[in-house]
Amino acid sequence: MEKIENGQPAAIREEEQIVCKRCKNTFTRSSNNSSACRFHPSFFVCRRHDDQKRYYELGPDDPPYAAKFYDCCGAEEPEASGCTTSFHVSYDDDA
Ligand SMILES: [Zn+2]
Ligand SMILES: [Zn+2]
Repeated sequence: MEKIENGQPAAIREEEQIVCKRCKNTFTRSSNNSSACRFHPSFFVCRRHDDQKRYYELGPDDPPYAAKFYDCCGAEEPEASGCTTSFHVSYDDDA
């Protein structure tokens, strides 16, 4: 690797770290790809699986994950990794 003393500074500068609007992880433009960002397209909700309308508050006698899950995929852990992958989205892109 040759060291470029008088090259373009932009080329040797460290790549800008961008915070993803969706997953809050940092990424660089060159590392962004269609599977870089894992996320849930829907919300973590609290209701019975078999009831599509009524939101439901967990009672003391309910098993821990009786009613909380991601609306998109049914994952029952708030920390479950995303069920969908896409490009990271920066705060600058407002498409
Ligand atoms: Zn999901
Ligand atoms: Zn992301």
